[in-house]
Amino acid sequence: MPGPGEQIFEEAADALLSRRNAVALTGAGISVESGIPAFRGTQGMWEKYDPMEYATIDAFFRDPEKVWSMLSEMVDLLARASPNPAHVGLADLERMGILRSVITQNVDGLHQAAGSRKVIEFHGNAEELVCLSCWTRYPSRAKILEGIPPRCSCGRILKPDLVLFGEPIPWTAQDEAESEADSCAVLLVIGTSAQVTPACEIPRLSKRRGAFIIEINPEETPLTRMVTDLHIRKVASLAVTRILETIRRVLPPS
Ligand code: NAD
Ligand code: ZN
Repeated sequence: MPGPGEQIFEEAADALLSRRNAVALTGAGISVESGIPAFRGTQGMWEKYDPMEYATIDAFFRDPEKVWSMLSEMVDLLARASPNPAHVGLADLERMGILRSVITQNVDGLHQAAGSRKVIEFHGNAEELVCLSCWTRYPSRAKILEGIPPRCSCGRILKPDLVLFGEPIPWTAQDEAESEADSCAVLLVIGTSAQVTPACEIPRLSKRRGAFIIEINPEETPLTRMVTDLHIRKVASLAVTRILETIRRVLPPS
């Protein structure tokens, strides 16, 4: 018999084991326990830098030096961060043949660092910088060491090759994410406020196709009452670890 409070993990494990064919959609919340603050729901650097003022393409065109004051702090945080048990748990679920892919809104590379192989980066990543004049690209780390703000050899301040608010989603990521969302039987939505479009459309798409939606978030989101089938109101590392423990109890070791 599951103990008090354990039932919800059993339900999630049941859904994953009986349906398989799962996809995860992750947001900034999954990386909070790795030391990277989310935009909403936690404190941290975003009290100092309003994302709507600092993380938009308009702000970058207007005042790239100001945007780099925020980006340099973000880059430092990303360099120090390592995967937490939620990232590792998703990689384990992929190896077990239960999870097919991870669609992430994050730019931190922590899913890949944890061992996930099929990761769709909906908002790009922070690995490269690009010049918006001559389109030359540079590896971020080396270029940033030369000084902030980093500059192209043509003189222009470089932009990280990730999606700022107001920029389009890379079409391959959009295409792949839609096809994954369209065909999965379970969608695990972890640590997203579901307020950033078009990423927040993904759970609705899966739901319309009959998928079972599991949401892991200590808070309610616009999805919780309208789209979610099972809301696990816990932090990501605890919830993913408990679901995995339950699955491992019933699955023979491979
Ligand atoms: P968000 O900041 O809007 O929302 C984060 C959500 O995570 C909130 O609903 C919060 O309740 C929840 N949360 C907080 N701690 C959690 C935990 N330990 N476990 C589970 N959930 C937790 O994030 P978003 O919806 O991803 O949208 C913000 C945009 O900014 C996205 O594009 C996002 O990827 C980007 N961003 C990325 C990073 C990163 O790469 N790590 C960090 C900040 C913002
Ligand atoms: Zn250039």
